[in-house]
Amino acid sequence: MTKKVVVIGGVAAGMKAAAVAKRRDPTLEIRVFQDEPDVSYSACGLPYHLADPAAIPRQNIIARTVDRFRADGIDLRVRHRADAVDLRQRQVIVTDLATATCITEDFDLLLLATGARPIETNLAVGSGAPTLFKLRSIRDADLIRPWLGQAKRVVIVGGGYIGLEMAETCRSRGVSVTLVEMAPRLLPGFQPWIGKQVAEQLERHHVDLILGRQAIAAEDGRIVLDDGTSLECDGAIFCVGVRPNVDLALSADLTLGPTGAIAVDPAMRTSAEGVFAAGDCCETYHRITGAPVWYPLGDIANRQGRVAGIHLAGGEAWFPGVLGTAIFRTFELAVARTGLGSAQARAGGFETADVRFEAPSRARYMPNSRPLAGTLMVERATGRILGAEAVGADAVDKFIDVVATAAWGGLTADDLSDLDLAYAPPFSPVLAPIQVGGELARKQIFSDSVRQPRVAKADP
Ligand SMILES: Cc1cc2nc3c(=O)[nH]c(=O)nc-3n(C[C@H](O)[C@H](O)[C@H](O)COP(=O)(O)OP(=O)(O)OC[C@H]3O[C@@H](n4cnc5c(N)ncnc54)[C@H](O)[C@@H]3O)c2cc1C
Repeated sequence: MTKKVVVIGGVAAGMKAAAVAKRRDPTLEIRVFQDEPDVSYSACGLPYHLADPAAIPRQNIIARTVDRFRADGIDLRVRHRADAVDLRQRQVIVTDLATATCITEDFDLLLLATGARPIETNLAVGSGAPTLFKLRSIRDADLIRPWLGQAKRVVIVGGGYIGLEMAETCRSRGVSVTLVEMAPRLLPGFQPWIGKQVAEQLERHHVDLILGRQAIAAEDGRIVLDDGTSLECDGAIFCVGVRPNVDLALSADLTLGPTGAIAVDPAMRTSAEGVFAAGDCCETYHRITGAPVWYPLGDIANRQGRVAGIHLAGGEAWFPGVLGTAIFRTFELAVARTGLGSAQARAGGFETADVRFEAPSRARYMPNSRPLAGTLMVERATGRILGAEAVGADAVDKFIDVVATAAWGGLTADDLSDLDLAYAPPFSPVLAPIQVGGELARKQIFSDSVRQPRVAKADP
């Protein structure tokens, strides 16, 4: 008998799962309900689309169109919102938003891919308030795009990676930017010196940075902060973070994990038989600590969607957890991290050597060589790589991806300094930044003489 699969949510995780499942088992009857009119778009690309809509037009942000999915045999219903899941009847209750009619849909297997939603602020909105935006979906970008073309001054609320990307976007469009961050320093999840470098970068690009303050009101063409500061602007973009969208999971009484996202096993199975979850709505576990973590990131959503899709088609695959590897750019600077930060490592009971280093990104004499600075986190007892953070204008992505690979494979600081990496002056200095970091870490562990690294270094 043909199995009926229902997928709720049609962006990264949902559409990946639907496409993988249909490809592996063409007999599946797959229906996707998506409340937005668009599907399968790259939210990650929105700041770059808004910076230059001519170079990166809207249609290029969409990976596959509704028609393309339908041609592949996936019954995709846009502007349909799932309101509740009835596990006993194995039905989803859906509203067709175009006609405001209610539908009930049976399923054998269900995938929740409902993503995350912006955190609500307690902003008091008075008369004459500047235009207020958020940036989560392609529809949000549709509202910002024409406005940005005529705006003169914007307040960006939130100094996380999306706020910082949008600061670059707005400045590139000639708009004056004030960025307000409630934490006392930028990027509190990173080493303080990295936040400082990013703050200096914003200053160089004439972004006014206000730290330790919250936006509490919008009125008379201004955003008002909690210390009474009043910022005149045409509009404000709120980038204050997201939380997992678990409304449907709660309607079905599914178990949530300690992060507040849906608890899943490595097969992306929830607590209910035949019900899966993938993407920003669910949690995963950290490869190093084994603890549940929630990282709302596009690459994770895609890979979880793939695993869920394989299971929907009756196959087997396992999501192996994450290191929390992430990168973003603000103006010329790239900032990246992987694995455990110092605080995370301490909380996880690790004794670490945090090794700060700086190295050129390419041979020092090459004109495009730039300083790359970072901190490598190494377990003192074993020399094992636990994580890294890095900042620079060049080759930060390469550095962090090699550290992520090393941490994934359980390599030590010793291994790092021994790695056989590609070298030619236009690409790398003769000792790559990662080897400089590894060597410093090795020396620090020796000089601390806590214990020699696991892998003994051969004499030259
Ligand atoms: C501006 C921006 C920049 C980003 N940059 C990066 C980046 O550089 N790197 C990175 O890794 N990640 C980035 N991300 C995060 C990344 O986009 C998300 O992790 C990814 O989109 C998650 O995919 P998802 O399918 O789990 O959820 P979502 O993309 O949130 O999709 C879920 C969909 O389900 C719909 N839905 C929810 N509930 C229902 C319901 N009841 N019925 C029907 N439909 C429903 C939602 O409206 C939404 O369309 C960025 C995000 C934004 C907003």
